Amino acid sequence: NTRILLAARPEGAPKPSDFRIEDIPVPEPRDGDVLLKILYLSLDPYMRGRMSTAKSYAAPAAIGDVMPGGTVARVETSRHPDFVEGDIVLSYSGWQSYALSKGAGLRKLDPAVAPVSTALGVLGMPGFTAWSGLLLIGEPKPGETVVVAAASGAVGSAVGQIARIKGARAVGIAGGPEKCAYVRDALGFDAAIDHHAVDFPAQLAAACPNGIDVYFENVGGAVWEAVFPLLNKHARVPVCGLIAGYNATSPSGSGPDRLPVLMREILSRSLLIRGFIQTEFAAAHEAQFLREAGAWVGSGQLRYKEDIVEGLANAPEAFIGLLEGRNFGKLIIRVAP
Ligand code: NDP
Repeated sequence: NTRILLAARPEGAPKPSDFRIEDIPVPEPRDGDVLLKILYLSLDPYMRGRMSTAKSYAAPAAIGDVMPGGTVARVETSRHPDFVEGDIVLSYSGWQSYALSKGAGLRKLDPAVAPVSTALGVLGMPGFTAWSGLLLIGEPKPGETVVVAAASGAVGSAVGQIARIKGARAVGIAGGPEKCAYVRDALGFDAAIDHHAVDFPAQLAAACPNGIDVYFENVGGAVWEAVFPLLNKHARVPVCGLIAGYNATSPSGSGPDRLPVLMREILSRSLLIRGFIQTEFAAAHEAQFLREAGAWVGSGQLRYKEDIVEGLANAPEAFIGLLEGRNFGKLIIRVAP
């Protein structure tokens, strides 16, 4: 069993030496256990938070723990009444090639419905994040303008497409011409703007002639600075992620305190700024999401792109790249064929 452990807490961007790879014997299932062989491991930005002791909504991983993560696995051996050998399940087994489970939290996947890797992306946690943040907080109306950054990624790609399904205009922000072309041409966003462009704020303003009604916040930083002046009265801002700051070593840069200005604008423009963690909506809405998103994927209205990296040993490097925008689509490690 190959496992990747948290070796050290990163200072700034994670480095390969913050991870340790080890090989131990495959565990033996006892009565009530299933032995899972991991097929796919999801790499997600939240894992940066688990590597750190900074205050967060979830406890950090301990040094020496297996790195946490969502996985798709095949039941190799079952000593559990509800599972048989060969079942494919969604599990939360982390960065390793085998895991034992008592069955709690496993969800069986039907390979006939969709490729099973989609349970980590468009039909999984990132897709639900997009669906819930956009529809339950953003509430886009037909004709409104919805803006989302990291628009070629797992969450952002779904946000823009669902906005269009609901009749809104979708403007994506992505890093580089290739990602922008994909967002516009393959995903059908109305416009896509490269945040690396020197005149990015002006390009964004030009792409939003009627202002912004919903800004789905994935990144923060310079992108937020460009978006904020364009928010319309009664704009909604689901705050989903702030990836531009995940490797920051101090809470904010130096400079004057701009919070009073921000608060005044929230007041005078009646802005709704609402943070969320997708799990808060899961119990009430996940079934509806799976029904709707499953149908949209089936009809081709909701497309997705997977960035699949071969081999568990490459997970640290791929994860480091995710925080720098080197992934193109939902980042997944193929752990076993
Ligand atoms: P993505 O697949 O979109 O990959 C991350 C992308 O972020 C990169 O490809 C890059 O895209 C962009 N990025 C990285 N650094 C910067 C930067 N400094 N400035 C601008 N963009 C940057 O990841 P996900 O779709 O999985 O996650 C998107 C966001 O959603 C993250 O912030 C994540 O933490 C958050 N999230 C929140 C959840 C919640 O419950 N609140 C649940 C799941 C995700 P590009 O090259 O285009 O800039």
